[in-house]
Amino acid sequence: MKCLAENLLDKKEPTPVGKCTGCKTCVVACKDNHGSEPGIWLRRVTEYAGGTWKRTEEGAWKQDVFIYYVSDACNHCADPACATACPYHVLLT
Ligand code: SF4
Ligand code: SF4
Repeated sequence: MKCLAENLLDKKEPTPVGKCTGCKTCVVACKDNHGSEPGIWLRRVTEYAGGTWKRTEEGAWKQDVFIYYVSDACNHCADPACATACPYHVLLT
């Protein structure tokens, strides 16, 4: 059986980062399956956010805020719990 990274490479597509909601179910699934020690995170979700709210001269509020999540695995499991637990199938599509 191929590991997660090999499956993704086979599809010749990047992981669909834009679909990740940052729920961290994958992180919990990994820790639950491997019983890793506190402070050890083999799956990590990183948040990238920016933008601001600005008031126009007319008094309305306009915004250009954004947020993305990137979920990274260690890619060591042949049958990764982190990938199969994702409720949005981000890591299997
Ligand atoms: S591949 Fe396995 S050990 Fe690595 S993050 Fe996923 S479930 Fe955890
Ligand atoms: S990859 Fe899936 S389970 Fe992990 S944080 Fe993103 S949406 Fe949630």
